[in-house]
Amino acid sequence: MSRFQCPQCGYIYDEQHGCPHEGYPAGTPWSAIPEDFSCPECFVREKPDFVALDVNP
Ligand SMILES: [Zn+2]
Repeated sequence: MSRFQCPQCGYIYDEQHGCPHEGYPAGTPWSAIPEDFSCPECFVREKPDFVALDVNP
């Protein structure tokens, strides 16, 4: 599982945990997140801005 971090506030999207509050259950891969996904913490950054922390093949 991979993790992606918001460069604005440090929020981390973890594929293992998903983002249930936004409607993405645990295990949702980053690739399944829409491009217009906004950071649920700061609402400033969107998916393309996120930084990959550890991407496993
Ligand atoms: Zn953020």
